[in-house]
Amino acid sequence: MSTYDFAVIGAGISGASVAFELQAEARVVLIEAESQPGYHSTGRSAALYTPNFGPPIVRRVNAVGRAFFEAPPDGFAEAPLLSPRGALTLFKSGNEGELAAFLTNGTERDPIHPIPVAEALRLAPLIRPEMVAAAAFEPGVTDMDVAAIHQGFLRGFRRRGGDIRRAQPVTALRRDGATWRVTAGGEEISVATVVNAAGAWGDAVARLAGARPVGLVPKRRTALVIDGPADLDLHGMPLVEFAGDAPYLKPDGGRVMASLADETPVEPQDIQPDDLDVATLVEWLETHTKTSVRKAPRTWAGLRSFVADANPVVGFDPELTGFFWLIGQGGYGIMMAPTLARIAAALATGGNVPADAAAAGVNAADLSPTRFRF
Ligand SMILES: Cc1cc2nc3c(=O)[nH]c(=O)nc-3n(C[C@H](O)[C@H](O)[C@H](O)COP(=O)(O)OP(=O)(O)OC[C@H]3O[C@@H](n4cnc5c(N)ncnc54)[C@H](O)[C@@H]3O)c2cc1C
Repeated sequence: MSTYDFAVIGAGISGASVAFELQAEARVVLIEAESQPGYHSTGRSAALYTPNFGPPIVRRVNAVGRAFFEAPPDGFAEAPLLSPRGALTLFKSGNEGELAAFLTNGTERDPIHPIPVAEALRLAPLIRPEMVAAAAFEPGVTDMDVAAIHQGFLRGFRRRGGDIRRAQPVTALRRDGATWRVTAGGEEISVATVVNAAGAWGDAVARLAGARPVGLVPKRRTALVIDGPADLDLHGMPLVEFAGDAPYLKPDGGRVMASLADETPVEPQDIQPDDLDVATLVEWLETHTKTSVRKAPRTWAGLRSFVADANPVVGFDPELTGFFWLIGQGGYGIMMAPTLARIAAALATGGNVPADAAAAGVNAADLSPTRFRF
């Protein structure tokens, strides 16, 4: 029987990044149900680093993470992981009064400025001018190269000597004395610690181990890519959102990626877009932008999985020895991954939250699964 210190279940961005960190000091097996590790949420994101988005703890984690993306370890990636995008928030006639309050979302490090409507329309020529009465710009939002980040972690993990098992769903988890027996792909593996990085399946994996679930809710989000008008160059357009209106859009090469920003609770599954959601998004695009959708767009859906307080769940289970949680990354899991992985690896090896994250105000109690047990 193979033996390791850690079995990490799930090789999306969360599992890949924590396996990379743990393998620096320990022997790790990374186990993935699919043949493609990015097949679920990790391969279906909007690929944005948005530092002023999400609950306070998520923002603190992301403030720390920018340093990793700007200067990853040697050999991690061949090209920059972040590229400039910027985010434009537009206010319709009647909503201008919300601008001042919106600007307070900015920080000294990542400010949000009011900009003239004409400037906003120059930056985003796709938007119908009659839809815009006021505008704000956030330069600190960037695109992320998600595939390069994910591959960087997987490649780095392998270079450090880590083992990856693909297309091998974990089907049983059994405590045997001081170790765990993990059944995956018909094989039993013996490990001291199980790391649950199973994304939307986080509570399902917990049940396999006999741990109490933390109330994880996977939520469907719909996205599509369409052609923009042939006479507009959209490469430099920022991310565009409307205050008080959920959908958003951004360039995708010369095309337009848009999401309904829907949050429909569903069971964990290989989620597919709902026809009505796609139709609603197409109608929104035709009302707010100069696009007219003539041919069927490329569509997809992905899962963003949250617990009740929308903070990630990172830490040892308080009731089950050797069972470590790394789930609940919601809509922030790519940008949080480098920092959350370092925090998780430190806690899983008996250490404390790393100094840079602690200095930013991230503490173990806010992340711990213990918060659901009282
Ligand atoms: C439309 C959309 C837009 C988004 N935009 C952004 C964004 O702009 N920026 C951002 O940072 N985040 C964004 N996100 C969120 C981000 O994609 C997720 O938070 C992140 O991908 C979660 O990664 P994960 O590794 O936890 O989950 P996943 O990528 O889903 O990985 C979990 C893995 O566990 C595996 N697994 C499950 N059960 C088992 C088992 N029993 N045995 C073995 N393997 C198992 C699954 O096969 C899966 O591969 C977005 C998400 C969506 C859907």
